[in-house]
Amino acid sequence: MHNRRVLVLTGAGVSAESGIPTFRGKDGYWRNLDPIKLATAEAFARDPELVWQWYRERRHTIRRAQPNAAHEAIANLAQCADEFLLVTQNVDDLHERAGLAKAEMVQIHGDIFVTKCSRCDFEHEHEQDQNGAPRCTKCGALMRPGVIWFGEPLPARETERVENYLQRDSCGVVIVAGTTATFGYIIDWALRASRRGGELIEINPEETPLSRFATRLVREPAAIALPRLVDELM
Ligand code: NAD
Ligand code: ZN
Repeated sequence: MHNRRVLVLTGAGVSAESGIPTFRGKDGYWRNLDPIKLATAEAFARDPELVWQWYRERRHTIRRAQPNAAHEAIANLAQCADEFLLVTQNVDDLHERAGLAKAEMVQIHGDIFVTKCSRCDFEHEHEQDQNGAPRCTKCGALMRPGVIWFGEPLPARETERVENYLQRDSCGVVIVAGTTATFGYIIDWALRASRRGGELIEINPEETPLSRFATRLVREPAAIALPRLVDELM
């Protein structure tokens, strides 16, 4: 690598081989319900207990899961890059458990282990799950999972960290792995980071809206493709 400044963007596909279903994959549905509709403020307003039940089961699945070779390869790449940032849409903690420092990563869609108030700014992390829908001990409103639902704005502080990284300099290598890239900002960040002739590498068994911009396409599962790619880059 000449320019050893790196940006990696990941989505649910990177955790698929750890046994955590993607939303749009064949195991995505939960009790015949579509995750795209469940992960919304509307679903929560209609039936908070149901949405909480789904999140508790997902927390349980994630706690039992282990990081896979893709998470490990990304943590290794961070070690040898001059500057490194991971922007993940994943709400699980597998990048962190693979050894990536929090300072080198932005969880742009939040953290499933955070529980936050739907009205005030009270929140807490990694507390024992209770049954039903918990209430805020400060203001009494419903507590909700600390994730960004479909249709909600991105957290300003996290977006700013990405913008700062992009504004400081361009990247020699941009890797986009395991995401449908349906959100415009993912494509925008990938293109802006690679704008000065950086490599734009997509890792995904399927075609995505980003594919036509990529300088390299790897149509393989992330846990196979990423270790090989990182070896090559190092
Ligand atoms: P998605 O479910 O929409 O798409 C997953 C993508 O991964 C697809 O493009 C698919 O082709 C690809 N894929 C599947 N298996 C793969 C593999 N083994 N290797 C590489 N790629 C593979 O996920 P998304 O685009 O990330 O976005 C959906 C939203 O769902 C996000 O906002 C995210 O917050 C949330 N989500 C998070 C998790 C998690 O934290 N693990 C899991 C499911 C959904
Ligand atoms: Zn509150």
